[in-house]
Amino acid sequence: MTVAGMTVFEALESNVRGYCRSWPTVFDTASGAWLRDEHGREYLDFFAGAGALNYGHNNPILKQALLDYITGDGITHGLDMSTVAKRRLLETLRDRVFGPRCLDYKVQFPGPTGANAVEAALKLARKVTGRQQILNFTNAFHGMSLGALSVTGSAAKRAGAGVPLAHVTPMPYDGYLGEPDELRWMRRALDDPSSGLDKPAAVIVETVQGEGGVNVARVDWLRQLAELCSARGILLIVDDVQMGCGRTGPFFSFETAGIRPDIVTLSKSIGGYGLPMALVLFAPELDQWAPGEHNGTFRGNNAAFVTARIALEHYWSDAALEQATLVKGARIARELTELAATVPGAQVRGRGLVQALAFDDPSLTGKVCQAAFDRGLLVETSGATGQVVKLMPPLTITDAEIDHGLELLTAAVRAVCH
Ligand SMILES: *Cc1c(COP(=O)(O)O)cnc(C)c1O
Repeated sequence: MTVAGMTVFEALESNVRGYCRSWPTVFDTASGAWLRDEHGREYLDFFAGAGALNYGHNNPILKQALLDYITGDGITHGLDMSTVAKRRLLETLRDRVFGPRCLDYKVQFPGPTGANAVEAALKLARKVTGRQQILNFTNAFHGMSLGALSVTGSAAKRAGAGVPLAHVTPMPYDGYLGEPDELRWMRRALDDPSSGLDKPAAVIVETVQGEGGVNVARVDWLRQLAELCSARGILLIVDDVQMGCGRTGPFFSFETAGIRPDIVTLSKSIGGYGLPMALVLFAPELDQWAPGEHNGTFRGNNAAFVTARIALEHYWSDAALEQATLVKGARIARELTELAATVPGAQVRGRGLVQALAFDDPSLTGKVCQAAFDRGLLVETSGATGQVVKLMPPLTITDAEIDHGLELLTAAVRAVCH
């Protein structure tokens, strides 16, 4: 198995691998909020596939539907051909997601990643408005392809592009300047013909910046942003790739603010089972695509369409999951606040089931995550300097599992910080 003392991962797999360095074991099976490694050791999952596993690992309801579909020789690969699986998904989106929320969106199936959805959203915004400029926010994360990187904040990630990332202007996210800024700079720059800012096609925003350090935009700030955009004919893109599908409570994270983005991107948990899938949703009048103008070989991951539909039917026919997410999130926030009180300068923030413990000293977080792993808990860092320990368990996690995970985290913090 090993070459000169190296595992095949070290010998063969590129240096680009990341998470396996934080969690140095070989995982084998998983169910619900638990992963098991090849030696039978169990790990509680407070990471949930970076938000791709909101309904847990191998969710039995989704698994049965997937097995039935595969056994019945349902279409697996379908480009953008019409299929029964896609029809049923579109009908379910209309009836269970858009209808009850009075949302009128056209649905685009881009390639099956968040970055591809973001690329499509940016292209569409530029095409429809005929403008080039996009406004993004400090600490934003939108994916690793060139367009998505151009609207991403991190200098380290941007540097990987190797070419200039142009036609984008960053604006301060809510709280970036340390006080409620009420979008003063953006408003002024847009309205002053001498500000040097070209009129943008769109603004792209996350309601909670997941990778950027669990920065939570206030509901009022989001409302002001939406009004500012609509009053000036600037399209508002909400990137709900990570915070959508119930992560913050409601199905769309922007529902809390009562806003209606012109364009929405979804991926990560939309496929339900951890299968690759992405959607771009937009107002019907923006649907100015020519046939095939944005395409991709794996737009038609029909197995994901099946698990996506069953997840919507099962979890989004009533308000139970949303309510449970808010209650569980409040439970975590309460416990974290007690824990934070024992560490000088530590802070708690989050919304719904994305919660974070922010440290003054960024060198502590990596050690805390390592100590948590040693105790059987998967948590990851986030933020510009990795200064935040981010808790993102599956939404289907039980209270007992939450309490267990928080005990492990508390023990890890004690071991590192006290
Ligand atoms: C993960 C993520 C993306 C990129 O998704 P990929 O599937 O990794 O390309 C884009 N936007 C946000 C907000 C994300 O969290």
